[in-house]
Amino acid sequence: MTQKIRTRIAPSPTGFLHLGTARTALYSWAYARHFGGEFVLRIEDTDVARSTQDSVDQILASMRWLGLEYNEGPIYQMQRLDRYKAVVDQLIADGKAYYCYSTPEELDAVREAKKARGEKALYDGRWRPAPGKTLPPVPEGVKPVVRFCNPPDGDVSWDDLVKGPITINNREIDDLIIVRTDGIPTYNFAVVVDDWDMQISHVFRGDEHINNTPWQINIFNALGAPLPQFGHCPIILGDDGQKLSKRRGAVSVTAYEEDGYLPEAMLNYLARLGWSHGDEELFNREQLVAWFDGTHLNKSPAQWDPVKLLWVNAQYIKQADNTRLAGLVATQLAKQNIAVDVDSGTEHLVKLCALFKDRCDTTVALASWIAKFYGEVTPDAAEKAQHVTDAVRPALTLLIEKLSTCAWEKAAIAVAIKEVLTATGLKMPQLAMPVRVLVLGTAQTPSLDAVLELCGKEKVLARLANV
Ligand code: GLU
Repeated sequence: MTQKIRTRIAPSPTGFLHLGTARTALYSWAYARHFGGEFVLRIEDTDVARSTQDSVDQILASMRWLGLEYNEGPIYQMQRLDRYKAVVDQLIADGKAYYCYSTPEELDAVREAKKARGEKALYDGRWRPAPGKTLPPVPEGVKPVVRFCNPPDGDVSWDDLVKGPITINNREIDDLIIVRTDGIPTYNFAVVVDDWDMQISHVFRGDEHINNTPWQINIFNALGAPLPQFGHCPIILGDDGQKLSKRRGAVSVTAYEEDGYLPEAMLNYLARLGWSHGDEELFNREQLVAWFDGTHLNKSPAQWDPVKLLWVNAQYIKQADNTRLAGLVATQLAKQNIAVDVDSGTEHLVKLCALFKDRCDTTVALASWIAKFYGEVTPDAAEKAQHVTDAVRPALTLLIEKLSTCAWEKAAIAVAIKEVLTATGLKMPQLAMPVRVLVLGTAQTPSLDAVLELCGKEKVLARLANV
């Protein structure tokens, strides 16, 4: 087969990029890259009332953050209205679509009557032309919609890349509205024209669209357009087993960026959520692209696991370049109004990142450690009472004395600490714990000499004096 692989993601700009859409984008992107194909970004902005530029900007920013580069786009549907109109006109001319003047009230009445008879509440086809049929007189002042002549019976079947074979009978669906009264095409129609024009070979999307696919296949057929292959990915469930939604925590890609996740961790976690390659839990973009061939996609919904995501993120933070982390931490610190001087402070920040990254699962957590080196530190009262006892106070005084004259670097600080231990007979933890509590506000920190060195002489002496 020589068909060029072309995939797309087609978000509606009616909000941020949802995690489910981000995952579908990721699969579409990886699939195209795996097969040396192309990936298209299309903005489905025909819901004019709900589409916003702010949402478009957020979607683009999220795609950029995740590194999902597209070969074409963003293509905006609202800039393609002329093309949709031309296709609709042709369908009408071919007798494959028609104007429908039924008012909402009439449609409601039909629906109610059908329901009362225990039938499916489908459109009754009153404006659908047929040989020998007389259509109702065109009412004045009613703007028509355009409906697609859906085949009245027969099965629509496709072999879904994710779900396997699916069949829906045409009697289950009705003549779909393809153009609204305002002249703007509906999703199911615009999506077909676009996927056709953009030569999309594989459509990955959320399984909430399975019910739309038979209509779309019928429209492709009516247009004489080749069918793409469809793969419908199951929804993502929240950790409570319900559909992942705003009420149940962050659902936007942007929120995770703000909360201190690394894009490569997010990419890894999202890809693994609903797809697997053996037992691999940690993989980079190149591996994903090498492995992702559209197989091994889960048929059943995946459950969002914030704890696992944190774990994945922690693995990437450990490996991350310290200079890069320093940049990310500086952004987080700025949110706490802590400004790091780029000229004089960057090297210091890089060292702090190196010292603390092993114990942090987000850059927010890393920034909260590092903030202790810039802002005020208030030791936890209970920890202070526990560790800063009368028994260690003389040792602390001696340490202050030694530190105030020692060269301010790790080795010399270590020597000063040792001298205090020898002079007082205390064990390392007996001295280290109170020093940590006073200097960083908590008894659990990385190696004491490194912490003191990076905290700076003046701050250390002032904080140690706070007994
Ligand atoms: N705009 C649709 C959505 O965001 C796209 C669905 C599709 O990929 O066909 O759900």
